Amino acid sequence: MATEKFTFQTEVGRLLDIVAHSLYSHKEIFLRELISNASDACDRLRHAGLTQPELTAGDTDFKVTLAFDKEARTLSVADNGIGMDHDDLIATLGTIASSGTQTFVSKLTGDEKKDAQLIGQFGVGFYSAFMVADRVEVLTRKAGDDTSWLWVSDGKGEFTIDPAERDARGTTVTLYMAKGEDEYLERMRIERIIKTYSDHIGIPIVLATGEGEPETLNTASALWTRPKKDITAEQYTEFYHHVGHVFDEPWKIIHNSVEGVLSYTNLLFIPSTPPFDLFDPDRKPRVKLYVKRVFITDDCEELLPSYLRFVRGIVDSDDLSLNISREMLQNDPKLAKIRSGLVKRILGELKKTAEKKPEDYADFWDSFGALMKEGIYEDFTNRDALLELARFRTTESDGLVSLAEYVARMKEGQEAIYTITGDAAAQLARSPQLEGFRAKGIEVLLLSDPVDEFWPGGVGTFQDKPFKSVTRGGADLDKVADREKPAEESADDTKDAATDAGAVDTLVAAFKLALGERVKDVRASQRLTDSAVCLVADEGDMDIHLERLLKQHRRMGEVPETPRILELNPRHPLIRGLAAAAGAGDEVVDAAHLLLDQARIMEGEPVADPAEFARRLAAVMEKGLAA
Ligand code: ADP
Ligand code: MG
Repeated sequence: MATEKFTFQTEVGRLLDIVAHSLYSHKEIFLRELISNASDACDRLRHAGLTQPELTAGDTDFKVTLAFDKEARTLSVADNGIGMDHDDLIATLGTIASSGTQTFVSKLTGDEKKDAQLIGQFGVGFYSAFMVADRVEVLTRKAGDDTSWLWVSDGKGEFTIDPAERDARGTTVTLYMAKGEDEYLERMRIERIIKTYSDHIGIPIVLATGEGEPETLNTASALWTRPKKDITAEQYTEFYHHVGHVFDEPWKIIHNSVEGVLSYTNLLFIPSTPPFDLFDPDRKPRVKLYVKRVFITDDCEELLPSYLRFVRGIVDSDDLSLNISREMLQNDPKLAKIRSGLVKRILGELKKTAEKKPEDYADFWDSFGALMKEGIYEDFTNRDALLELARFRTTESDGLVSLAEYVARMKEGQEAIYTITGDAAAQLARSPQLEGFRAKGIEVLLLSDPVDEFWPGGVGTFQDKPFKSVTRGGADLDKVADREKPAEESADDTKDAATDAGAVDTLVAAFKLALGERVKDVRASQRLTDSAVCLVADEGDMDIHLERLLKQHRRMGEVPETPRILELNPRHPLIRGLAAAAGAGDEVVDAAHLLLDQARIMEGEPVADPAEFARRLAAVMEKGLAA
C-alpha cells in the first residue's frame, strides 16, 4: 500500500503555524499533553476490557513509557492503551477534535505574542508537540486489530499514513527535537517535568534508560485516593487540567469521601472561568465516573443535574458494579443517592463561601449564576437552598443582593418582590417603567439572563412575597410613600397631577380612538415620573421581553404580537400640554402614534411603520417651526 498523503484541516494548519513559531515560555507542557493522552488511552481500554476482555489480551498492566536518545535527538512517549486505527488517525490527528483546542482557535487574535500566551490558558493537546519537535511520528495499533499504522508530520500543512509494524497494541509518539530544544533530552529535566505536571496520573510513568531497571517517575496512584494533606495545590490544579481538559485555576476544590451504606469519593472542581460549552443545547454534565479506580464514563448524565454542568472532576465508588451499562446507570438507585449527596455537598460548599467570602462568591455568581437559576426552576428538592444562594443586581445597590436582604429592606406597604427582565442589567436600569419605583425607593431586581423569564413564575413566592414584574399589570405604587413624602400626600399628587383630571381622561379617550387595535388599552400611569410614556403588559399577558426572546428563537412562528397597554404620565409637560389642547383633531392622532412608537423604541422594539413614523415626525416638526 502506497503512502497516503493528507492535508490538515484549515484550522489545524493555522494552529500549527502559531505553535511552531510560539515563543511561549512553558513549552514543557507538551509532555504533559502527550502523557495525558497516553493515560486517557489506557483508561479507555481498561473500560472497554470490562465487557470485551479479549481486547486487553491478558496485559492489564497499564503504563506510560518514556525513552530518549540523545544521538538521534528523539523523545518518545509510549502507552499500551486503546491505540488508533487508520480512520481514528485521520479523525483525531488532522482535525480539531478536542474542545480545549477548539476554544483556543476561536480565541485567536492574530497577534502572535498574545496567541502564544493563550496556548497556556487553553492547551492545544497533541499539537503542542510541534512547539519543540520538527517531526512527529505516531506508531499505533488499535486493541483487537492486527494492523499497525505510522502517522508522520513535520507540522507544515501535511501528514502521511503508512501501514507499519508494532509488536503489540498501543501508541508510541516519537518527537524529533527541533534545534535548541536539547533540554528535553536530559534525564533530570524530564524527571522534573513529570513531577510538576504529571504526578497525579494514576498509572506508572516509567523512564526506560537502556542501562539498568526502568524507573517510575510519578507516585502512580489515583490522586483522589491519596490523603488530602499529601496533595499540593499544584497537584490538584494539574489534575483539574487533566480531567477537565481546561486550563484555568480551579475556583473551588471539593475533595472528600463518604462512608456508609454507600461509599464513594469525589474530587470536584468549580472552574474560575466559564467553559465555552456551557450553553450547548445538550446541557450535559461532564464529571467522570470511576468504579473501584477504573474509569467508566465521562458521559454520565445521572451523576449530576444539568444545571451543575460547570462542575468538573471525578466520582469513584466501590459500591457500583464494574460492568454497569448505560441502561443500568439510568435506573440505578445507588447512583441517584450519590447524585443527591453530591448536589448537597456542592451547594453546602457554595453556601459557606457565600457567607464567609462574599466577594469570591460574587465572582462565582457572575460566571455561573445563570446556570444556578436553571436549578431554581428545575430542582424542586433543593429549591430553598438555591434561592438562598441566588444573588441579584438591583436598582438600589451596586453589588449583588440576596433575596433575604431584599425582603428585609422592603418598604412599608410594599407587598411584592419587583423584577424587570431584559437583555442587560445596565440597560434595564434605565427603563421608564422603573421611574415610579425609584421615586419611592422601591428596590427592583434587574434580571438579564434568559432563564429569568421562567423561574420567578415557577417559584411564585419567596418568604411569602410574590414575584412581580414591573412591566406587567397596574403598578400598585400608591400604598408606598415617596422617598420624601408620606403616602396620603403622594396619592393626592397623582390625582391633580394634570391641569385637570378630566382633561387627562379626555386625552386618554382620544388616544384610544386614534390607536385602536394597536394597543390593548391606554391609561394614566403611576409608574412614570420623568418619561412621557411607556408600554406595559396586561396582567396575565406575556411579558414584552419574553415575547421578544421567544420570537428570536422562533418558538412562536407567525403568531401576531400581543397588544400592550400604553401608559401616559399625567405629570409630564408634554402630556399636560396635549391634555390642555385636547380635541385638536390631527395633532392628537399624530401625537398618539408618535408616542406609541417612542415607547416601542425604548423597549428595544422596532417602530410599527417606519415611513408613517417619519411622515408624522416631519409634520410635527414643521408645525413646531411654524409656531
Ligand atoms: P484531547 O486529549 O483533549 O481529546 P488531544 O489533541 O490531546 O485532545 O488529542 C486528540 C485525540 O487524539 C484524542 O482525543 C484521542 O482520540 C487521540 N489520541 C491522542 N493521543 C492518543 C494515544 N496515545 N492513544 C490513543 N488515542 C490518542
Ligand atoms: Mg489530550
